[in-house]
Amino acid sequence: MNAGAAPLLELVDLVRYFPVRNAFGRRTGWIRAVDGLSLAVWPGETLGLVGESGCGKSTLGKTVMGIYTPTAGDIRFAGREIGHLPARARRAVARDLQYVYQDPGASLDPRWKVVHSLHEPLKIHTRLSRAEREREVGAILAAVGLPDAHLDLYPHELSGGQQRRVGLARILTLRPRMVILDEPTSGLDVSVQASVLKLFRSMQEAFALTYVFISHDLAVVRAMCARIAVMYLGTIVELGDTAAVFETPRHPYTRSLLAAVPRIGGRRVTLDFVLEGEPPSPRDVPSGCRFRTRCPLVQDVCAREEPRLREVDGRAVACHFA
Ligand code: SF4
Repeated sequence: MNAGAAPLLELVDLVRYFPVRNAFGRRTGWIRAVDGLSLAVWPGETLGLVGESGCGKSTLGKTVMGIYTPTAGDIRFAGREIGHLPARARRAVARDLQYVYQDPGASLDPRWKVVHSLHEPLKIHTRLSRAEREREVGAILAAVGLPDAHLDLYPHELSGGQQRRVGLARILTLRPRMVILDEPTSGLDVSVQASVLKLFRSMQEAFALTYVFISHDLAVVRAMCARIAVMYLGTIVELGDTAAVFETPRHPYTRSLLAAVPRIGGRRVTLDFVLEGEPPSPRDVPSGCRFRTRCPLVQDVCAREEPRLREVDGRAVACHFA
């Protein structure tokens, strides 16, 4: 797969821990939010990243973005290690690699007209003349489906959907190569969700974007992503083509997760697995396989040996018995 192409983003044994401190400020342990995770994202694809809340998917996105510094491991973007760059050099990468948390419209400054919000990133990050900026802003506004007349409006004069489009336009003014979308449809009703997903798709085509799509909504991930990575307690347990993973999930956690998704008009993916209880705390990761405390197939070896991701049936699975 992808013979000849190089990954746009490559994570190698990425680790991000947070210290846990007692009332006296003494460190008493670590939260292992991202725990030795490796992953490649290819140019032009949409990779879905799923898992229960607290599995580390947002921490992973924020570590890639430079919001958190990696505790260990490498982040390679377009062939260059960016995880340990000095702040100034890291900011230069920010143009190419953008992060959208939930609603991009929510980050608009209420005191600024749309025109100001869209020109500002270009003023900071480029040397374009005013006329060039105006051309660029006009083109991007049209691409997100808004007329020029909206340039003169304040955010409160726009609908929620229009604010979202302006927020996205603001990100696109920098012509990023990759956008990490963190729960981009959360809080939207189904009809608005469909138009937002359509917008993401048309933006991807128009601007040759690569997406990492972080979501707990498996139905949305299935609709948007050609590949899916399933995360559990800071690491990836299954990674492969979305259609194949949904059709025949191989890791017991993936099977449990998919079994919990209701299917309207179709059969459920699995009937025999139900996910019980809460995941263990990332402060207290179980020995061996980290899913063993909830796994219906657990054996003795699972407590002793941590299963590594290995190729099974055309995808990568971390289970001794997959
Ligand atoms: S390695 Fe063992 S505990 Fe882990 S998922 Fe596989 S069967 Fe379950």
